[in-house]
Amino acid sequence: MKYYSTNKKSPLVDFKEATINGQAPDKGLYFPGTIPVIDHDVIANIEQYSNEEIAFRIIAPYVGESMDDDKLMQIVKETISFPIPLVQVTESVFSLELFHGPTLAFKDIGARFMSRCLGHFVKNNDKKVTVLVATSGDTGGAVANGFYNVEGIEVVILYPSGKVSPVQEKQLTTPGKNIHALEIEGNFDDCQRMVKEAFMDDELKKKRFLTSANSINVARWLPQQFYYFFAYKQWTDKSNPPIISVPSGNFGNICAGILASQSGLPVKHFIAACNANDIVTRYLQTERLEARDAVVTLSNAMDVGNPSNFIRILEIFHHQFPELKNKLSSYSITDEETIHTISEAYKQHSYTLDPHGAVGYLALKRYLEKHPDSKGIFLETAHPVKFPDAVEQQTGRSIELPPSVKDIMKRKKISTVMKPEYAALKDYLMTSP
Ligand SMILES: *Cc1c(COP(=O)(O)O)cnc(C)c1O
Repeated sequence: MKYYSTNKKSPLVDFKEATINGQAPDKGLYFPGTIPVIDHDVIANIEQYSNEEIAFRIIAPYVGESMDDDKLMQIVKETISFPIPLVQVTESVFSLELFHGPTLAFKDIGARFMSRCLGHFVKNNDKKVTVLVATSGDTGGAVANGFYNVEGIEVVILYPSGKVSPVQEKQLTTPGKNIHALEIEGNFDDCQRMVKEAFMDDELKKKRFLTSANSINVARWLPQQFYYFFAYKQWTDKSNPPIISVPSGNFGNICAGILASQSGLPVKHFIAACNANDIVTRYLQTERLEARDAVVTLSNAMDVGNPSNFIRILEIFHHQFPELKNKLSSYSITDEETIHTISEAYKQHSYTLDPHGAVGYLALKRYLEKHPDSKGIFLETAHPVKFPDAVEQQTGRSIELPPSVKDIMKRKKISTVMKPEYAALKDYLMTSP
């Protein structure tokens, strides 16, 4: 498999090079040259295949010659070593719970797969690789956990001081070893700006090889297809395929789902569930994609004003607006509606939503009101315990910490406090770790 850049001004690369580079040199995103078609037998008899087998068959064509089958199978097994259940919430609504991984975020899947691939690819490098990433919350924990102790890789995570939840902060400041947390005295935009500057600094890049671990990396983006197949495996009414609603921010997750459906996975329709950051909701109404500054919401992992993966969705549909509109709808949900939805789902269905899942749930319900013969799935992308304030207030009940989190909450936070200035970051990266 060869990957081209969406800006079309970079050489074609294989999976290994795309993973190591992250972004193409022309600043475009890597995109697979062809979209593989999944063997029809796998879809028709999906219950008879193990999750490992399904995942391996989906990802193998994308990895191609970059890795041998045994190694890839080992990585696949480690990536999906936790349950991903489909839970019925109402008569027509099901929750795909993606939060049973080590950091309670769906990002665990992509981060675990990517870290193991990158670790394998740089194993015999004499130059160490530094993964540099800014986080508003969930990315940091998933990346820290995925890359912990991976040889040849140092991870530097920038997070805004006081602006991530206590569980999230512990997840990225307690691992130690090759994971380094920089606590920035500023906001998420400051963190992101500092990281961007580092990627443009030739002097720094001479000193150390930098790569990113966000969802533009193909090794993080592509394995997100797995759980759409696992959802279908658990879907009982195969004659009536599901509508799938995805809480979306940078649009990597939903783009993986759409890619899976282009490969042959039966999905009737996709819904991009957005919070007040409604760039794509507007695009589907006006055909104009207008980036804006992100606004802060309760579902903060989706506070994105310029969704970087949306270009890949356009690429899947060959930039044909009618085809895209046929497969994708979008709703923008306010914080007030999010709060109300958390409360209602708990009272009426005894189901505890987190704010991101609540956006997905309500967007799905809106669509189903107009399509009463359909049923659907929303992706529950984070564990409610990560957002205790909003959730406990609405359900009136405190959420039990899962054992893995209880343990982490007892550990000591270690971070390097830093001014929100690039000079400080550069100084740090030139001299340590
Ligand atoms: C990252 C994240 C999202 C958004 O996913 P994208 O792939 O960026 O669209 C949604 N919910 C949670 C909890 C997240 O951490």
